[in-house]
Amino acid sequence: MTERGMLIILSGPSGCGKGTMLKEVVKRTACEVSVSATTRDPREGEIDGVHYHFFTREDFEKRIVGNEMLEYAQYCNNYYGTLKESVESIRSQGKHAVLEIEVQGALKIMEEHPDAVTIFTLPPTLAELRRRLEKRGTETQEVIEQRIARAIEEIPFAERYQYIVWNDKLEDAVDDFCAIVQAEANRTKYSKERIGAFTKSC
Ligand code: 5GP
Repeated sequence: MTERGMLIILSGPSGCGKGTMLKEVVKRTACEVSVSATTRDPREGEIDGVHYHFFTREDFEKRIVGNEMLEYAQYCNNYYGTLKESVESIRSQGKHAVLEIEVQGALKIMEEHPDAVTIFTLPPTLAELRRRLEKRGTETQEVIEQRIARAIEEIPFAERYQYIVWNDKLEDAVDDFCAIVQAEANRTKYSKERIGAFTKSC
């Protein structure tokens, strides 16, 4: 494990299975998902502080003004954002902070944190994305249409990310994600001290 954990960004269309993929990834790697803040209403079963920090618009805007957000964006009429503190507490423990965020926020992080590992995930087809969103049943048809429209806008940005994970079969997508994390953690830059100590001992 690296001394200070990496910053990993995962983006991809709503409903393509990012959350399910990450649930498996955290079991198999030193990754932890950063809990975002949002002004959207909790879905059934979502717990404040676990799935999101559910803020009012006023609260959210106060955090923006107070410079507490690493990034934030508007998505389908709501604010979503990453609290600096949430990411810092993960990385300072040597764990990798995974930010499951939409494209605008991700582009901002890419600019400010060129060391971030960036991954875009896609379902096999748009028809499959629609099927998954409808099967999830957490959004009204109107919101599903908004999310699909947003997905179509976001897909061209996939090329700005370092890696693509195709989420056709969940197990394969999880394997791919874990392989990326492992390879990135093995970059020479994270072993400089250890190589130095080894060299000295020779
Ligand atoms: P959902 O409402 O389905 O939980 O999330 C909607 C979208 O907001 C998803 O694309 C998700 O990745 C994105 N999102 C979640 N948290 C954040 C965040 O902290 N920042 C940004 N920019 N997007 C986020």
